[in-house]
Amino acid sequence: MAIVVRGLRLGVPYHQLWEKAKNGDDFARGFLSIMVPYESHEAARAIVPSLVEKTLKAAAKSEKFNGAEDVVFYACRYLANDNRCGVYEDRPQFCRDYPDSPFLVMASGCAFEGWSNQCRTKFKAMEAEVDTLQELQASLNALQTYELSSNECTTDTNSKFK
Ligand code: SF4
Repeated sequence: MAIVVRGLRLGVPYHQLWEKAKNGDDFARGFLSIMVPYESHEAARAIVPSLVEKTLKAAAKSEKFNGAEDVVFYACRYLANDNRCGVYEDRPQFCRDYPDSPFLVMASGCAFEGWSNQCRTKFKAMEAEVDTLQELQASLNALQTYELSSNECTTDTNSKFK
């Protein structure tokens, strides 16, 4: 059986999502066409306890947090046993739109996770570049300060000997 824990939607409890889907909301329909909610946090916790704990802790810090019952964990019905997307070529628009989605936790191997990892790697590389640029800027500033003070020194010295 594929192991999946993903999906956190704060502020829109499951029953409201159903209502929206019934009223023709595209996002809600797309979401519920692929996601099946776990019966309880305990059920999700039994699969990946650390992710559930981490997610609940993060959710509790959110301004939108109304209570643990608003946090729902979902399993994707299309995640294959090899932990890859079973319908990748035909995956729903909802999945193609990632990261513009409410997912915070993704299953290993899911297309979402691949994208997320790529973003994380790029972000780290950019952070490293920013650090390097800041160090260069600091060195440049120090050099300019040194040059300025040496010029002042030279000017002072010249004026004393006139
Ligand atoms: S990309 Fe595939 S495995 Fe991932 S959530 Fe969508 S349908 Fe499921």
